[in-house]
Amino acid sequence: MRTFELGADYAAKLDAVDPIASLRERFYVKEDELYMDGNSLGLCSRDAEAAILNILSVWKGQGIGIWTAEDGLYFLYPSYLGGLLAPLIGADKDEVTITNSTTINIHQAIATFYKPTKERYKILVDDLNFPTDRHAVDSQVMLKGYDPADAVKVVESPDGRLIDEEAVIAAMTDDVALCLMPSVLYRSAQLLNIEKLSRAARERGIIIGWDLCHSIGAIPHDLKKADADFAIWCNYKYLNAGPGAVGGLYINRRHFGMTPGLAGWHGNLKATQFELHHKHDPAPDADAWLTGTAPMLSMAGLEGNLKIVAEAGIDRIREKSLNLTAYLMFLIDARLTPYGYAVGNPREDAVRGGHVALEHSEAYRICQALKLKKVIPDYREPNVVRLAPVALYNTYAEVHRLVDILEEIGKDRLYEQIPAEKTGIVH
Ligand SMILES: *Cc1c(COP(=O)(O)O)cnc(C)c1O
Repeated sequence: MRTFELGADYAAKLDAVDPIASLRERFYVKEDELYMDGNSLGLCSRDAEAAILNILSVWKGQGIGIWTAEDGLYFLYPSYLGGLLAPLIGADKDEVTITNSTTINIHQAIATFYKPTKERYKILVDDLNFPTDRHAVDSQVMLKGYDPADAVKVVESPDGRLIDEEAVIAAMTDDVALCLMPSVLYRSAQLLNIEKLSRAARERGIIIGWDLCHSIGAIPHDLKKADADFAIWCNYKYLNAGPGAVGGLYINRRHFGMTPGLAGWHGNLKATQFELHHKHDPAPDADAWLTGTAPMLSMAGLEGNLKIVAEAGIDRIREKSLNLTAYLMFLIDARLTPYGYAVGNPREDAVRGGHVALEHSEAYRICQALKLKKVIPDYREPNVVRLAPVALYNTYAEVHRLVDILEEIGKDRLYEQIPAEKTGIVH
């Protein structure tokens, strides 16, 4: 049980003993703003900036020589970065590569692993995953000539917040070929048991893949132990690689040698890639799933940030994240419930991710009121204010200030001054 005290001086005490507090200085943090949105887009660090400027300067100085500079480091950048990232998810270096977006990597993985037969042709999903995952799944089953209404099997949440793992396992029937699940639900922050569900899928002959978008960089994973088939994720949330940064792909080594669903010349064996044969000769590892030329400027930010993550250590990041969010929940319970606020995420450490889902019937207008007070949350339909105090750059003092502001907005009903209809891009 984590216990806290109410006063602002207590927050200062927690900051004073935070072993990774100094890493905040590496980020472009605005002192007059409370940035609580690192689970949507992480902040820029000086390390990410330096890594991006480095790529720019190599290009400036060497033109096409960038591909042969530093013993081919930049030519092999997707697997180099994959190797740096692998320890965060408990994978071997050659099982990870950095390529494409999350959405495209879902397409790639399903195009590779979804081999429907007459008896086994369904893809199992849940109804709370991020929409793009569903769009990709639905379009992949249609490409194979199936109707998503029949071939996509959906586990429904009983309450719109949580997914019942036993219901997922019960839905792993003989007609299911593949299962795609999120590690952490983007709205309620529920953390699913990757090991348990992966084992259940394996025992039933079902391919299982994980969308790690809302956990990578915040929660350590052990994919080796889970023995999942594949995983995909984006690097711009807790991994702070920059807006639209290139995503990641994990392929369990037992699948090395398979023909990738979406092949491209960068997935070819490096030794023969420039012989430019029309017959694809896949790389022996996760690099086989690369497609076209790597967008270097959208990858370098990850290199910079992974340095910071390595200094912090993913276990210390998780510990601070759990403590920051537990502290936020403690303050919400103690001070905000009279104003209609409630914690909507699971309470126990083992089943929650890196953000707090603060529920309120006026969540949309509260988010707008927060922005007027220089707090950056994000809003998720229908009633959630998502708040992510991030271990690498947020402080306990900021969490305390956040609750002061939420209390003021609730007590004085400041949100009533904001129009209820949503305008522009809702975020
Ligand atoms: C953020 C997020 C995505 C984003 O996909 P992109 O292709 O990077 O736009 C996908 N899935 C989940 C679960 C996410 O949280």
